[in-house]
Amino acid sequence: MVQWTWRSIVMDVPWYTNYFWGLILISLLVWALEIRFPWRREQPILRKDFWLDALHMFFNFFLFALAIAGVYKVLGTLLAELGISAHSLAVLDMSHWPMGLQLLVFFVLLDFLQWATHVLLHRIPALWEFHKVHHSVKEMGFAAHMRFHWMENILYKPLKTLGVMFLGGFEPEQAYIVHFAAIAIGHFNHANIKVTYGPLKFILNNPVMHLYHHAYTLPEGSHGVNYGISLSLWDYIFKTDHIPESSGKVPLGFPGDSEIPNSFLGQQAHGFGKRKK
Ligand SMILES: [Zn+2]
Ligand SMILES: [Zn+2]
Repeated sequence: MVQWTWRSIVMDVPWYTNYFWGLILISLLVWALEIRFPWRREQPILRKDFWLDALHMFFNFFLFALAIAGVYKVLGTLLAELGISAHSLAVLDMSHWPMGLQLLVFFVLLDFLQWATHVLLHRIPALWEFHKVHHSVKEMGFAAHMRFHWMENILYKPLKTLGVMFLGGFEPEQAYIVHFAAIAIGHFNHANIKVTYGPLKFILNNPVMHLYHHAYTLPEGSHGVNYGISLSLWDYIFKTDHIPESSGKVPLGFPGDSEIPNSFLGQQAHGFGKRKK
């Protein structure tokens, strides 16, 4: 895996599987759009914690690439040991469907399972400690997408793995499209750009909706709103959508966010000690 990442950096892998340069390209594109069409005009191009988030981005990217490569292999080996092929657990056999449809189902299912995991990160206090790092962002920009605790890479895995098993260990060559789309949509959701995609806002998550996910003040009695990852659909179905206005000027963070360390290492190490009340 280390070798694969190195080969990606020196462009010795097929371009469409090159997540390293893909991430850089998507980042530069979204950043250029932020600079050209800023939503909060007064926000500096190098906003608060820009470099901190860039550091998180490359760190988490490495773990992310590792997860993509590793999880299916580990799963396959494990199941083979137990004497079952991944296929025998499949609830849905899509192998005869057109590839585009397979990818769409894969994308939607994976997104739903991530939405559900995200809700748990907010509702279970021990998990919220890790997720607080992502919510410690005070000024929003594309790179904030990748500010998260390394534990999230692990916490998101169980449900995702289960989903892949439902699809008979489905992981076609073309799944890179889904991963790239998820990175691009995630970057957009955190960008300082005001786009909502018109009526598609009920399906696609967007910067306005996600900004309210990061709002300091939540509706009374709520653990969170707008949990959507790539799709906003689940929040509308489960009535966790909340967009009171769209000035872009809402204060971000959470009550007590000053407890989160300001350093990269401090943030990545947060959440393991005893919780303060
Ligand atoms: Zn969250
Ligand atoms: Zn976010």
